[in-house]
Amino acid sequence: MPRFDPRYHRQALLPGLGEPGQERLALAHAVIVGCGALGCAVADHLARAGVGTLTIIDRDVVELTNLQRQCLFDERDADEGLPKVEAASRRLAEINSLVRVLPLAADFNAASAERLLPAGRGLAVLIDGTDNFDTRFILNDLAVRRGIPYCYGGAIAARGAWAVFTPGEGPCLRCVMPEPPPAGSVPTCDTAGVLGPAVAWTAAHQAAAAIRIITGHADGLAGTLHEADLWAGTSRGVRIERDPACPCCAGRRFEFLDGARGVRAVWACGQNAVQVFPDRRTIGGDDDETNDAGHAIDLSPLGERLRPHGEVSVTRFMARVTLRDERADDGGPVLLSVFPDGRALIRGLRDPAAARVIYDRYVGA
Ligand SMILES: [Zn+2]
Repeated sequence: MPRFDPRYHRQALLPGLGEPGQERLALAHAVIVGCGALGCAVADHLARAGVGTLTIIDRDVVELTNLQRQCLFDERDADEGLPKVEAASRRLAEINSLVRVLPLAADFNAASAERLLPAGRGLAVLIDGTDNFDTRFILNDLAVRRGIPYCYGGAIAARGAWAVFTPGEGPCLRCVMPEPPPAGSVPTCDTAGVLGPAVAWTAAHQAAAAIRIITGHADGLAGTLHEADLWAGTSRGVRIERDPACPCCAGRRFEFLDGARGVRAVWACGQNAVQVFPDRRTIGGDDDETNDAGHAIDLSPLGERLRPHGEVSVTRFMARVTLRDERADDGGPVLLSVFPDGRALIRGLRDPAAARVIYDRYVGA
């Protein structure tokens, strides 16, 4: 058991923390899903604060374009193309060798979630460092099923948002957002950009919330969604309520974690491409497999958003882009075609999980 270390002196001076709080932190196990900008910043805070065990899950490698905001990585990591969790773990060990970091270079999805985070590990908090709502719905399902507080966070452009969803005490993510936003309807960091300080604001609140949860000072955390615009210099808190009809926390149906819902990526060998299907809506509870045709992606704005990333062509039938910054399996370009129903065809990659990353990055789920 890690003992109180003098490095924590200034933190232990805080009322409500002290050596007992420090002891609780040392015994705690926090999980960070996604080691991008938010995940890096939260991991940095929690490692310095002395959270005993940090599991960090991410499937990406460090790239040069990450360095503007992903604070655990440097040019050497990008040159080496190191997996983000390995680079993070190396850096965190230099920051605080008392902390045990468990790096998991894996795709967190419905099929892998329970295996990556087996029950019985005494997880204190699940921290959201993801960049898409599909993964967040899986995280939310897992949090509610296991009764673990979930620290939601998101940052895009100059805006940040965070909330704590505590099972049994307040709403869950699905109470507030019953359905993931339709594919292609929300901007992503890769299309809209992101301001580093917007990430810092969001991650600081997520990390502070995690420390409060672990040390037993979580009163009043649940029930508010906090938002800020770092460019305008404004912030606000919005009251959020439990939905008695919520399929997740009221109905205890974990559709995203169980794989009944969510984005699917499938290798289509005849087309030498991976097909990505947006979430399908089951209508009236039957198992209708058709995609939700109720929403159609407007291809022109999507084409505009994709224009900085390569040569784009938009027709009535599809938006197509040759992605300049992505490498296909054979070293050539990756060709992304998006159809009005949100379906995408990604040519050049065999691995459905890798294609899924492209989809989240450029179309948004
Ligand atoms: Zn709910």
